[in-house]
Amino acid sequence: MDKPKLTIDEMAVFCKRKGFVYPNSEIYGGISGFYDFGHIGVELKNNIKKEWWKTFVHERDDIVGIDGSIIAHPMVWKASGHIDGFTDVLIDCTKCGTRFRGDTLIEDKLKILTAGMSLEDIAKELKQHKIKCLKCGNELSEPKRFNLMFSTNVGPVQTSSSVAFLRPETAQIIFADFRLVQENARLKLPFGIAQIGKAFRNEISPRDFLFRMREFEQMEIEYFVHPEKQDECEFIKDVLDYELNVLSAEMQKQNKKMQKMTIKDCLNKKIIKTKWHAYWLAMMHKWFVDLGANSEHFRIRQHVKNELSHYALETWDLEYEFPFGWKELQGLSNRTDFDLKQHIEHSKTDLSIFDEETKKKIIPHVICEPSQGVERAFLVFMFDAYHYDKSRDNVVLKLHPRLAPIKVGVFPLVSNKKELVDKAKEIYCNLKAEWTCTFDVSGSIGRRYARADEIGVYACVTVDFESLDDESVTIRSRDTTEQIRVKIKDLKEILKKFLDGERLGKLGERVE
Ligand SMILES: [Zn+2]
Repeated sequence: MDKPKLTIDEMAVFCKRKGFVYPNSEIYGGISGFYDFGHIGVELKNNIKKEWWKTFVHERDDIVGIDGSIIAHPMVWKASGHIDGFTDVLIDCTKCGTRFRGDTLIEDKLKILTAGMSLEDIAKELKQHKIKCLKCGNELSEPKRFNLMFSTNVGPVQTSSSVAFLRPETAQIIFADFRLVQENARLKLPFGIAQIGKAFRNEISPRDFLFRMREFEQMEIEYFVHPEKQDECEFIKDVLDYELNVLSAEMQKQNKKMQKMTIKDCLNKKIIKTKWHAYWLAMMHKWFVDLGANSEHFRIRQHVKNELSHYALETWDLEYEFPFGWKELQGLSNRTDFDLKQHIEHSKTDLSIFDEETKKKIIPHVICEPSQGVERAFLVFMFDAYHYDKSRDNVVLKLHPRLAPIKVGVFPLVSNKKELVDKAKEIYCNLKAEWTCTFDVSGSIGRRYARADEIGVYACVTVDFESLDDESVTIRSRDTTEQIRVKIKDLKEILKKFLDGERLGKLGERVE
């Protein structure tokens, strides 16, 4: 298996240098866990969100989207369990004051899995192994629970009743709006509600660049089914032969390695319990692979028993092999009817659906909740696209054409010939109505190709002296450096085919 070629820190440096991602407010020393997307990064991030929305909302008849508010009534977070239970274990050094997250401290120190460890378990491990401050070596405080929600005040007067929270997940807004969306969109089970939006978690120790941040964006679907029809998935046939790396809870217990399996095998061997869960795991995996990610860098891993959240019946993570190990990319939980029931109880509002068939009111189950951080997807696509090309002696960012931040670069061969520059400019203005384009006149043409390769520009169009006579230009492929000569009047049509995935060599006369 080819390992990612960069460390996460090297990726952060590359992202900063090329205009993808900057540490937030760096001129004041930065603020840990917050990042800004630069002029290239914002294009990639928007493309990721656009592709996700297209695949899971626009192209489907069973899913609609919403865009909820970041601040909600505090009762939403009471009902969801976040006010009481959304905590991490915090430990600080009694001498230097450095703060540690209990589970990561133990993981770093003892190299053991800490998922699902209680406060007491963590305290015990700390005592037993006499763990001291990693920074100064002094005594650590007793571990205590710390709520991860950011709080703020709503209104001009700060009182205990003015406290509100920035949402720690997008899911709860979907549950709170459930009835309005279901009724107005006239949704019939099974159906999903999707949302892309910001979420905030006051992480004790943000780390690994965009991997664990305090402000991030989620792309999420809550998929609802009839409680008595949890295993009736009409789409399952589409994915039965789909193959992926699987690591079940049982395999982890027996210390076995992940195994390549089809969805059909996983269901037949009862490794994945419901067809819906299997279906969504395959669909999410496939989304990444269809957009150019390397399927060998992915696996699905089942949560072991003590790792499961309080609301989840069964959870699988879609994991990616980051330079710092296999990590969660996406959590897919079976949340049952937990959330809707909680909101029914706390709001005293009826959130049930009338089932025409049985003439009974039912509370739908969330059979699966594919929930994904946009920034983690961003990292995946960056790592899998990053190639160092020895013969070109520059980085080539081989992003899928639909994700490429800039689709076309337009270059006049030389910068000191006005006619040439004007001609190129005219072509550039014409193309940018269609795609994100860049116009570059500075430096040698080789240098400009290299700059374009590094930010993933998919096609370069060069206007040379001959163009003035024959109304033709050269198109160069980022991935192969192949070049063809085409008439300017056909340029748009040919670029469209090339960006749709056709081979450049098939679209025109090759230039050696
Ligand atoms: Zn210390």
